Amino acid sequence: MSRVFNFSAGPATLPEEVLKQAQEEMLDWQGTGMSVMEMSHRGKAFMSIAEKAESDLREIMAIPDNYKVLFLQGGASSQFAMVPINLLHGNNKADYLNTGQWSKKAITEAKRYCAVNVVASTEDSKFTTVPDQASLPTSTDAAYFHYTPNETIVGVEFPYIPETNVPLVADMSSTILSRPIDVSKYGVIYAGAQKNIGPAGITVVIVRDDLIGKVIDGMPAMMDYQTHADADSMYNTPPTYSWYLAGLVFQWVKDKGGLQGMAEINQRKADKLYAAIDNSDFYSNPVEKPARSWMNVPFILANADLDKQFLEEAEKVGLSTLKGHRSVGGMRASIYNAMPEAGIDALIDFMQDFEKRNG
Ligand code: PMP
Repeated sequence: MSRVFNFSAGPATLPEEVLKQAQEEMLDWQGTGMSVMEMSHRGKAFMSIAEKAESDLREIMAIPDNYKVLFLQGGASSQFAMVPINLLHGNNKADYLNTGQWSKKAITEAKRYCAVNVVASTEDSKFTTVPDQASLPTSTDAAYFHYTPNETIVGVEFPYIPETNVPLVADMSSTILSRPIDVSKYGVIYAGAQKNIGPAGITVVIVRDDLIGKVIDGMPAMMDYQTHADADSMYNTPPTYSWYLAGLVFQWVKDKGGLQGMAEINQRKADKLYAAIDNSDFYSNPVEKPARSWMNVPFILANADLDKQFLEEAEKVGLSTLKGHRSVGGMRASIYNAMPEAGIDALIDFMQDFEKRNG
């Protein structure tokens, strides 16, 4: 068996230790004689798995007691709708920052339910920066303020948390668990799992108690945070196996020193890769330095005619899924928590060798 370094933006690489443990427990989870996949979600065994996952997540993110943690389905994309449905509270206006393709999707969806006020947009810069913090209004009469702390496609990440007098909502799909964050600054944090949490199929929503229970009339029960909060995310059958694997990842993060530990490793990995790009005339990254993502590192080659060759040769030496998003072209290395530092070193070695031969 030989595993590659997988730079996919998501579904993304998972910690090898986690996959091995899942493999060991595949047929018989801890003497139950069955796979987690085969268990009733209401049985004692799965309930203990679910509870441990939640308490470990609460511990690593230091989630205050007045927040509910929900394990839902429908991906982050469902949250684009569930956020306005649950948070408008009779107000018809919501503030959004437009900093990339994912912000845009959230905005498009919110427009079905309310008037969206785009507080700031970085579209003119082709989304290669974030708005200046001082330019953002801190006071508003909107129901909430939504932003995307890490835009997965262009690789732009906020170095600050916006200040606002209304509940702050963050799509943390591609940055959650990469560094410590102050949960108490947020009304809602949501994230699809398939980057830093686990396999696709589960979505984590962290929501402050007082925001729940005021859904727009006539909405399906499945779209109401209250439904899921009341039922400990077991109103219907949850994605049990994804929940279990997320729990193994949370344990792995704890073992690595929690979010502080992750942050140190992630910063080192990102710094190394950006330095390799910046120190070369052959590779470049267009994002303004303070807004560069630790998780998604796009780069372009001086000559786009070499893209195909670069990708083919990279694949041959076990560096997989480096093709950039179709909207920006070039390359993108997604280097989430589970990408080992050795993967970054191997990528840099390959990039330098490729440049020597073709630069
Ligand atoms: N938001 C961000 C920042 C993302 O990166 C993605 C997926 N790449 C999504 C939302 C959509 O997530 P999902 O596929 O889970 O709906």
